[in-house]
Amino acid sequence: MLPLTDTHAHLYHGRFDQDRGEVLARAREAGVQRIVLPNIDRSSIRAMLDLAAAEPGYCLPAMGIHPCSIGADADAELDAAEAWLFNPPEALPQGIRFCAVGEIGLDFYWDTTHAEAQKRALARQLDWAITLDLPVLLHTREANDATLDLVEAAQRKGAGEASPRRLRGIYHCFSGTVEQAERAVAQGFMLGIGGVATFKNGGLDRVLPGIALEHLVLETDAPYLAPTPHRGKRNEPAYTALVAERLAGWYGTTPTAIAEATSQNAARMFGW
Ligand SMILES: [Zn+2]
Repeated sequence: MLPLTDTHAHLYHGRFDQDRGEVLARAREAGVQRIVLPNIDRSSIRAMLDLAAAEPGYCLPAMGIHPCSIGADADAELDAAEAWLFNPPEALPQGIRFCAVGEIGLDFYWDTTHAEAQKRALARQLDWAITLDLPVLLHTREANDATLDLVEAAQRKGAGEASPRRLRGIYHCFSGTVEQAERAVAQGFMLGIGGVATFKNGGLDRVLPGIALEHLVLETDAPYLAPTPHRGKRNEPAYTALVAERLAGWYGTTPTAIAEATSQNAARMFGW
């Protein structure tokens, strides 16, 4: 058993509807202590809150709109997320609060039609995080530099407020260059590391050993991006143990030490 934290799992996804209880049991057996649930858009909120209510203190919801859900109805999506964060349309289940603003970001991989709308949406959601003093969960694909730029702009803005706040968060599923990793770390952000670390040609081996362990957190992005040897199949929080094993090799330490360090980093980031 390793003291793990999964900082990014869409465990409310329909692909877990048949056996979610078993998935959670395997997570607990593997040592997973907490699971962060990032939202996608309006359509995922109900299932996410139901799971958070069923697993209080264990499955912790975040609220935001994913860049791939920023389209023609972006304003309606953003207004809904904003209401849940600032003025919930209905009472949150007992003891439940949002632990982060996410999943938010930029994704120029599939389509750049809505690139400018994505940037506006990200800037607006970064402002929420500053106002609420919450970390952000960032998704970036083919858009690392643009995301880093927007975070820097938001940090400058946050520093100018009457009660200055430094925007913080996680570059989820980080896949960038050494320079981009160093920029993220200079911003005080963490790099979220998951299944890609175990992939042949994943590329993280060229970046990570040069980044100190204090800047890393573990994640799955379940049901996506399962680590080797489950690559291509459904991912689940227990598999963070496989990522810890890979990092142990790179950092010359034990999986337990990796799990402890990354869980402490998550606790610091989320304020647990
Ligand atoms: Zn995600």
